[in-house]
Amino acid sequence: MVKHLNNPVFSIISKLAAEQNVQAFAIGGFVRDIFLRRPSKDIDIVVVGNGIDFAESVGKKLKVKVSVFKNFGTASLKYQDLEIEFVGARKESYRRDSRKPIVENGTLDDDQKRRDFTINALAISLHPDNYGELLDPFNGIADLDNKLIRTPLDPAETFSDDPLRMMRAIRFATQLNFRIDDLAVSAIRNNAERIGIISQERITDELNKIILSAKPSIGFKYLFDTGLLHKIFPLMTALHGVDYIDGKSHKDNFYHTLQVLDNICETTDDLWLRWAAILHDIAKPPTKRFEPGHGWTFHGHEDKGARMVPKIFAQLKLPMNDKMKFVQKMVQLHLRPIVLAQSIVTDSAVRRLLFDAGEDIESLMLLCKADITTKNEYKIKKYRSNFELVQQKLKDVEERDKVRNWQPPVTGNDIMELFGIKEGREVGIIKNQIREAILEGEIPNSRDEAIAYTIAKGAEIGLKVVGKP
Ligand code: ATP
Repeated sequence: MVKHLNNPVFSIISKLAAEQNVQAFAIGGFVRDIFLRRPSKDIDIVVVGNGIDFAESVGKKLKVKVSVFKNFGTASLKYQDLEIEFVGARKESYRRDSRKPIVENGTLDDDQKRRDFTINALAISLHPDNYGELLDPFNGIADLDNKLIRTPLDPAETFSDDPLRMMRAIRFATQLNFRIDDLAVSAIRNNAERIGIISQERITDELNKIILSAKPSIGFKYLFDTGLLHKIFPLMTALHGVDYIDGKSHKDNFYHTLQVLDNICETTDDLWLRWAAILHDIAKPPTKRFEPGHGWTFHGHEDKGARMVPKIFAQLKLPMNDKMKFVQKMVQLHLRPIVLAQSIVTDSAVRRLLFDAGEDIESLMLLCKADITTKNEYKIKKYRSNFELVQQKLKDVEERDKVRNWQPPVTGNDIMELFGIKEGREVGIIKNQIREAILEGEIPNSRDEAIAYTIAKGAEIGLKVVGKP
């Protein structure tokens, strides 16, 4: 263990602990991460005694500033690239209506018992008497070896006391690719209702960590199977299930969505593109119809889905800014490249897609690729090769026509000056005609051609040229 305590700060803490005759331990995530070989810069120190006083003595020795949080009984300091937080060992008890415990001073053992999971309850002694000794009263090391999330105490109590721990259990299982102990899973199922006392911000924080993991479906399956997802994001659970009429069925859109999400995680770390994968089919349940003789359809689910995005973001307390707009745009456009991939691609269809997606065309293509989840090898091959074709066309058309960040070559002002007219319907009509003509390939995307076209269109509605644009 000692070799993991090579930063001089540990021997300074050790010396001060001996001088002041207090026990001090490194605890929690830092110790867990040593065994997971994920070096961590956040170190939690538990002191059996006054954590703030001890932190101040360490700060003095290191000659660094100590930030004190009296209300929480904690103090922290920065040393080199480390962020070190000190707290007195505590014993906690809970009331039913709050996740805020009643806190008393306690022993190391009390402190380890209040930790959420056995793998987060590991401690290393820093006192010279047993420097570097690992204290693992709940077999956290065995659980690390067995890749198991387990609570130190009765899971029913652990989760009922602080229901956020249910989200944390699923988050750690997803990040680490661990299994959650069976008793803990049933305790989450029994306590799912209690997630109601946790603030949306904290829930969403954990949800985002699940989404940012390498394989988020692990977490979403736990959320679904325990009933937590029904409480925190019921719209997503509505995607689950398959209907049969006249022997015809549709795919299970919940598992399809998870597959798309896992797929896109292989190509992007962007949280918002990952959210777009989660939401791309969110309006399939409300648009689902059975058309006799044809089968199941979800007409307009991309439009309806895009309209649902702002409300979902507001409910989940996700940011109502350009990130939301981006996700909305992805949901709105998610079918477009695949439609192109299925039929013969015309230049104008490609230009329109570039025009609508703008800057976000690459993200949209990633989403579309991730959306191909068919198991049919023949279809996969066909879609993929058509897709390559679309990608090549996008490149060619963009190089030639530059419509990706399209700015009209003739502006409203130009039109007003050209014909000596004021702002109004006519200006709008001509502007649309110019855009359509360029997208359809009737005229090239250049100013001269666009002015000539404007003059011709103006003449059709009786406008005469009186000035120069
Ligand atoms: P990460 O940095 O990946 O979130 P971490 O384990 O360091 O992992 P923190 O939230 O910083 O996570 O928590 C530090 C330690 O505090 C945990 O390892 C755990 O021992 C304890 N802890 C945090 N939140 C809770 C909780 N809700 N209930 C019980 N113990 C908790």
